Order: sequence, then C-alpha cells, then structure tokens
Amino acid sequence: MRQLTPEDRLQKEARLMKEGRKRYVEELRKQLTELSGLLAEEQTDRLLDTANRIYRIVHTIKGSAPMFEFTRIGAVAEKLVKDWEWTQVSGVWTAEHTASRFYRSALEGTPSISQLKRELELYQQELELDEHQEQYGKQTLASSGSRLLIIDDDEVLRAYLVRRLKLEGYDVDDAADVETGQRLLREHNYDLITLDLMMHPQSGYELFEFVKEDPTLKWIPLVVLSGRNDLQDKVRCFYLGADDFVTKPFQYEELSARIYSLLKRTKNFEQMAFRDPLTGIYNRRFFDHQIQVELQRTRRYPAPISMVFIDIDRFKKINDTYGHHVGDLVLQGLAHLLQKHVRSTDLIARFGGEEFVVVLPGSTEQDAVKSIDAILQLAQTEPVAQFEGQPFYITFSAGVTGWKEGLTVEDWIKRADDAMYAAKQSGRNRVLLYAQEMDQSESTPADTAERNLTVLIADDDRILRSILVSKLQHLPVTFLEAEDGEEAFRLITEQQVHLCILDGVMPNLDGLDMLEKLHREVGKPSDLNILMLSGRNRDDDLSRGHALGVDTFMHKPFSMVELEFKVKQLLQLT
Ligand code: GH3
Ligand code: MG
Ligand code: MG
Repeated sequence: MRQLTPEDRLQKEARLMKEGRKRYVEELRKQLTELSGLLAEEQTDRLLDTANRIYRIVHTIKGSAPMFEFTRIGAVAEKLVKDWEWTQVSGVWTAEHTASRFYRSALEGTPSISQLKRELELYQQELELDEHQEQYGKQTLASSGSRLLIIDDDEVLRAYLVRRLKLEGYDVDDAADVETGQRLLREHNYDLITLDLMMHPQSGYELFEFVKEDPTLKWIPLVVLSGRNDLQDKVRCFYLGADDFVTKPFQYEELSARIYSLLKRTKNFEQMAFRDPLTGIYNRRFFDHQIQVELQRTRRYPAPISMVFIDIDRFKKINDTYGHHVGDLVLQGLAHLLQKHVRSTDLIARFGGEEFVVVLPGSTEQDAVKSIDAILQLAQTEPVAQFEGQPFYITFSAGVTGWKEGLTVEDWIKRADDAMYAAKQSGRNRVLLYAQEMDQSESTPADTAERNLTVLIADDDRILRSILVSKLQHLPVTFLEAEDGEEAFRLITEQQVHLCILDGVMPNLDGLDMLEKLHREVGKPSDLNILMLSGRNRDDDLSRGHALGVDTFMHKPFSMVELEFKVKQLLQLT
C-alpha cells in the first residue's frame, strides 16, 4: 500500500486551496454583483435595510477573502469596514439621514466598492493564468471526486458543512429532511452520508430503515451526527449499520478527518478488485484499464512513456527446488523491490504468473533501461526473499520499449514482450531495448528458417558469454549457454545446435575432451560447426582440434568484428 508522503500531502493541500480559490472567486463575483444592485437601489423606504446588507457583505469579504489568500481584496474590504465603523455606533443606523452619507462613501470614497471589482478581475486573470500553466506544465490528477450527502434539519450547520466540504473538493448535496434524503439517494450515487438523528417529521432512524433495505445503498458509509451523547443511541446506530458516530457540537476538522478515513477505507476495499492478492500490486485488469488512461494523457500532453516487461529467470526451478511457498515469497519480494525503486507515478502490475509490467510515464526508453537495469543489479546484492534464514536471489529478463504514435496498446505490450523474449534467448539476466528484428510475428518464412539456427556458447567465463551474446544478438539465431564441457555435451546431444563457440579450457571437461567424447559416444552431428576459442596457441592443440572437427580457431584476446565475421561465415548468413 502506497503511503501518503509529506509531498503528497502538500500537493493535496495545494490542490484543495486552488479549488477553494476558484470557488471563492465565483462566490465573490456573486457578492459584488449583489453589491452593485444594492447600490443602484435608492428607494428611500428600504434604505436602511439595504445599507445594512451592503455593510454585511463587505464585512464577510473582509473575513473570508484572506483565508483564500486574496489578501488585496481582503485589505480593501477591511479598509471599507473601518471607514464605515461610525455606522455601527449604536443608534446611528436607525437615523435615516446617515444612509445617504454611507452611500456616497461606498460609491466614491477611497477605496470604493468599484475597487473591489477591479481586484476581483485581476485575481480572475491570475487564476486563469495558473490554470493554463498547469495544463501545459505538469498535469495534476483530478480531485478525489467523492460525492457526499448531508442530511440535517439544522439549516445553519448544513450550509456550513456543505461549504467547508465543497472547499475540500467534495461534491456535496444536502437535504433538510428524511424524505428529500431518500429522493436524492434514489437519484444519485453517493460515496458517503452524514445523518442527523433528531429531525422532523421523520427521525434519522427512518432513513436507516430505508438504506438497510436497499442492496445498492446499504454499503454506503454512514456517519451519524447526533445532538445527544447518548450511549443507547450510539449502540443502536452501530447495530443498525452506522460506520461512525459524532456528537454535536464537534470540530469541523475532526468530522472532515473521519470522512476522509472512511472514504479511504472504502476506496481501498473497492481497489481490491484491482489488486493482485499475492503481491498487493495492481493486477492485469487494472493495468488494461489504466494503460488507456496513461496513453490518453500522453496524447493530450505529449511526453515520452515507456513500458517494461519483466519475467523472472528459471522461476520454475525455484518452485521445484524449494517449494511453491518460497516461489510465492520470491514473487512478493520482486514486487516489493520494483515498487521501492521506481517512481511513485510509475505503474507496476503483475501481468501473469512470474511476469510483471512497469509503465514509466515521462521516461524515455533509455531512462527506463537504466532504471530497470539498476534494479536488476540490486537483485544481485539484495536477496529478494528469505525463508528459514536462507536468502534467495533471482535474476530476471526484461524488455523495454517506448510508445510511438500510432502504436496500439496490444502492439506496445507485444514489443516489450518480444524484447523480453529476446533477452531470454540471449542468455537471460539482462534488460534489452526492443528492436525491429525482435518481432516474432512479422517474420517471413525465410527469416523463420534462419531463426531456427541455434548457437551454443560454451565458456565458463560468464562475462565473456554475455559479451558474446550481446554482440551477436542482432543475428537471427537462438542462443544457448553452457558453463562447462559436460553441459555443452548434454545440450549438443539433446538438441540441434548449428554452431558451438567452444572454450578450450573449462571445468569438468575441456573443449577438446568434450569433442572427443562426442565422437566416441554419438558421433559429431554433421551440421554442427565448431568455433574454438583458445587461450594458448599450441600446435598440438591445433592439429588435435582439426582432427576432431573444429572449423575455426580464434585465440584470446580476439577481435569481436572478426568473431562476428566468422560466425556469419560458418552459419552462412550474409
Ligand atoms: P524462464 O527463465 O524461461 O522464464 O524460465 P521459468 O522457469 O521462469 O519459466 P516458466 O514460464 O517455465 O515457469 C513459470 C513458472 O511460474 C511456472 C509456474 O508454476 C510458476 N508460477 C506461476 N504463478 C505462480 C505463483 O503464483 N506462485 C508460484 N510459487 N509459482 C507460480
Ligand atoms: Mg514466464
Ligand atoms: Mg520465467
């Protein structure tokens, strides 16, 4: 489970503030329109009333604008309120003649109400600029989008809750009685309900009955807001299915935190359908959905995006040797390792048995190769799992490819998979970038014939083997590897090998001894070519080698260009 980091929290706060500011500007516009209307109204019979409303609106602006960091508007409103302080001296408002003096100051004084309007226009422009930058700069996720229903007959409390919750980015509806609540619940989908118990004509308990009987409603989280701190009420509500019980009066922050935690828990619960139960990371179902979302975003805000297909090497052997349980621990360990070392914006999913995919938005292919290769290197020093005190290490093979305009998701995945397959073929324990030649489906029959060529690299030097594979991997051949003569012998006798790049000196069985055994026991296959690598240049080795069917000798150190040339020649690849 990904924790909310301090940055996430700051980001969330910034987002809430931004949304709050947007909504507040709308609110402010309404208030200023109302102010203009009131100022235009100069009917003498309601003069005092109107003046009073003007004062109150400006007073409200003074209090709320600074909360949304609209400090300039706040300062203007504060000055106005201060200028009008004399109207608040007891008795003055009742004197009719003060009203016209007040009006003049509101219209012409410094600052005036028109100054409030000018400030508003400025802020509006600033907000639009911010929005523009946000769209073309870094993209932010849409707000949580949870929809809440507040059922309470206390009008003041209801309005207050609606306002505060809206500022936090929730969609909020409200109902003053059970009947309206029921209607709204039928018409919309809600993520959470807050319910007042003491209401008229029907009490909150009646809503409980209604919700409990409806299978589509009974799982909606429900918070009871009760005016009584009564044990029996509490107990009854919890038995009826309430998820939380808050006694009035309460601090808004506490209610807000309780709502947040309930929503988070239900969201987690919903997400279980999208998570792989063994590793806790996303499953294929979620991946298929989310990849479309990521691509849509990439089309709208062009940026590189890469995909990695990962398959654990020789995983079956781990299961067979240590049991399925250790296999499971290894899968969990790799999921954890990946999660720990990719960015929080990267998408990791378990694709199948021991296959994982990682999608890295904003990463070029080269970046992706680097990050995954770093993880592969880490896996060599950090055991991926431990069981009964024994550490388990793994290697994996990975294919990387970037998304290109016009590529379908299926083809994109296939490319990453093809590159992973090429990594397996070329010796495992490596990360390869997709290249056209790796495509398994577009090959012509002639290609397929070539691809059936198998090259065995028999050398006890692991580094040399992987250098050879990587230098030759563009050739249309399949690679096998053996780390000693016995293994090479087994592979040659078990399957068709067209070329064996054979090290002269190896444990168990030297290169030449292996060839001798081959002659003695089964006879050297007619289509097997031998390219011998030897560290020493001795005449008797050469003549013995030729007698045993070595086609070409190369002495270490040798040139890779020459080696490639000889390999192509022996396999008749032009
Ligand atoms: P390669 O290097 O070619 O990938 O060899 P491999 O043995 O890793 O590949 P293969 O596809 O032959 O074996 C995959 C194994 O993964 C077979 C299957 O039993 C095992 N497996 C799949 N899902 C799970 C799982 O959830 N838990 C465990 N323990 N094993 C699993
Ligand atoms: Mg596999
Ligand atoms: Mg595997």
